[in-house]
Amino acid sequence: MCYTIPAIVEGVHKGKATISYFGERKEAICEFVHLSPGDYVYAQGGYVVEKISPVQAQKTLKAWKDVFFELRKIDAVSAALDSSDISSNRILQGILERARKNIIPSKEEALYLLNLEDAQSRLLVRRSANYLRQQYHNNSCCVHGILEISNICARDCGYCGISSSSGAVRYRMSLDEIIAAAGEAINKFGFKSLVLQSGEECGYSLDELVNIVASIKKKFPVLIFISFGEIGIKGLKQLYAAGSRGLLLRFETSNPALYKKLHPGCNLDSRLDHLRAAYEMGYLIITGGLIGLPGATKEDLVNDIILTSSLHAEMFSFGPFLPHPSTLLAAFPAPAEQDVLGVLSLARLMCAEKAKILVTTAYETLSSSARQNGLIAGGNSIMVNVTPLKYRSLYNIYPHRAHEDETLAQQVRQALAMLKSLGRGPTDLGSN
Ligand code: SAM
Repeated sequence: MCYTIPAIVEGVHKGKATISYFGERKEAICEFVHLSPGDYVYAQGGYVVEKISPVQAQKTLKAWKDVFFELRKIDAVSAALDSSDISSNRILQGILERARKNIIPSKEEALYLLNLEDAQSRLLVRRSANYLRQQYHNNSCCVHGILEISNICARDCGYCGISSSSGAVRYRMSLDEIIAAAGEAINKFGFKSLVLQSGEECGYSLDELVNIVASIKKKFPVLIFISFGEIGIKGLKQLYAAGSRGLLLRFETSNPALYKKLHPGCNLDSRLDHLRAAYEMGYLIITGGLIGLPGATKEDLVNDIILTSSLHAEMFSFGPFLPHPSTLLAAFPAPAEQDVLGVLSLARLMCAEKAKILVTTAYETLSSSARQNGLIAGGNSIMVNVTPLKYRSLYNIYPHRAHEDETLAQQVRQALAMLKSLGRGPTDLGSN
């Protein structure tokens, strides 16, 4: 994981740079910028996104040096396990001890963990997940910006408040509005990664979407993720050529029958084909599912985690189902917070080394302490909504979304303070 502080380039070989953060080495693809040893860069998601001047870099690094190591210390202390982290339940103790040695829980063991009822056992699972997160990913926490460019959608997902039949009031941002919002996030607040999201068949032609991505890429140093639904192989290719390098597309549930029931006219295989094709093209993959979907079992959730891993996800995105009043599932309850935490921590135990694990806005809507709780249960990513306030509440996938009426400045201030209190260093929210 790259930090959002300048790194120094130590070497460049076959399009990849070896970069160093206070001596910690990482590899980053440098297709967007020409580099030589000694240059200073910002890198994101394994890509160099910007080269900066040595003067600017050294000023930032000087300001960051002490803070960088201090935050790491706070996190390492709070993630360490001690003699109180032992369970008298021998099955649980065995699973956790093996997981800490990177022996992935079997499917049966995973199910056993998800079914734990007592608070002490659940806490032990979360603490083990936090320990593994710290061991493999240190204190870094991804902070992507998400810009919801349109809520127009042709699909009729049974849970979604902006589905085609939901009666939602529609919007579509103009190119100028998108550039202005992206510019504010990147130039004013230092975001280095942006997710562009919309419904499917979202009111722009493919050429218009390509132009949006290319225009942002031309103007700003940023890693772009697209999240426009199943855009087609041609669409994936053209959007990659325009400069996007990541895809956010949840498969929602790994249960094909439930998928079909909740997504009329659609099927799981087509969704998975998209994800696999995107990975082959070189996209970074963010995917996952909904927790507590009516009709889904705990076994489905274990399968969801296994599927996410098999899709080479660089980030796991699992959030609770939240009932929306104008959908068919309006009367079903959201899951309990402890079930959400159970999935996040299990995902960390099953994919300790690889995964960034997102604490989603849906979870933040369910619980006001979601970020803190999720980040100490294996999570290491959050998203900040950079959509202009006038559109924010129209992206009404479920009611009362967290941060719906907060300015970007307020959200950034809160996110940074919260991360600091946990000893976490933001990785894609810059220092400007
Ligand atoms: N069109 C894109 C797609 O198909 O992935 C992105 C937009 S879609 C609205 C974004 C995500 O919102 C979905 O992947 C879904 O999991 C989530 N979502 C929609 N309705 C929800 C609800 N009621 N509760 C929780 N999450 C919901």
